[in-house]
Amino acid sequence: MADLQTTFTNMVSSFRLLDALDIIIVAFVLYRMIMMIRGTRAVQLLKGVVMILLATGLAHTLQLGALSWLLDKILTIGLFAIPVVFQPELRRGLEQLGRGKFFSSRGTTLFQEEEDIPKTINELTKATSVLAKNKIGALIILERETGLSDHIETGIPIGAVVSSELLINTFIPNTPLHDGAVIIRGQHMIAASCFLPLSDNALISKELGTRHRAGIGISEQSDAVAVIVSEETGQISLAADGKLTRNLDEQSFREFLTNLLVPVKTDRFTLFKGKAGS
Ligand code: ATP
Ligand code: MG
Repeated sequence: MADLQTTFTNMVSSFRLLDALDIIIVAFVLYRMIMMIRGTRAVQLLKGVVMILLATGLAHTLQLGALSWLLDKILTIGLFAIPVVFQPELRRGLEQLGRGKFFSSRGTTLFQEEEDIPKTINELTKATSVLAKNKIGALIILERETGLSDHIETGIPIGAVVSSELLINTFIPNTPLHDGAVIIRGQHMIAASCFLPLSDNALISKELGTRHRAGIGISEQSDAVAVIVSEETGQISLAADGKLTRNLDEQSFREFLTNLLVPVKTDRFTLFKGKAGS
């Protein structure tokens, strides 16, 4: 006890003003790094890394030899995998540092306001019916918890409140914004003409082309929901969790989307349906 007290006294007496500055700088850098990856899929990856670290600690504490060995090996391999997996985020981070954005405090809004959802669903339902009836191809992505900033950056910023008129107008063929995907966050159309990753799932029907594959692709890599209107058939489809539901009529589209987006209230948390517990 006396030892502990002496160590503490020594620490306090040797604490310099520069040490305080050191701590403040480290805290600021960590804060900016968290703000930077907030809104990208790196958050999910980071959660995975933290889970593995916790499991390793637990396995060591409980002296579970085989599990500790396995997790140690995963961590060693993971160390080499991190630069590969995080490559887009690292590149983005360095670019932002170069542009001086690292020091600016503008953050992104991540989550949908609950009251926005029915309005957005309404506008989407109206727009998709018109687009489908006129066989105008469309790809609309609804951001949920996984931030889609990486994909938003590939498109053209819009930042307007979602309306059926705006959505229909965006996808009119041969207009500058019609190609690629629209990304919606809450009540706002954040960007249009975005390029999305294509799914390489071999089980997807051969009759579906790149628009459907891009919709399925983003729903595999994030928890986003993709709304797809086919130019060829006028069919409306929804992709969520890597699964495509095709040929929805107006009523079933509205129900399906409500089911996916409207939060389920539990005693302590508000969770999104289908994402509960994940
Ligand atoms: P449709 O039934 O409407 O024909 P499809 O699934 O057969 O759809 P394509 O005919 O290949 O798909 O559709 C091409 C259009 O899909 C492109 O013009 C573009 O707007 C969109 N698209 C293709 N690839 C991507 C991508 N990676 N990200 C976003 N949009 C894409
Ligand atoms: Mg096609």
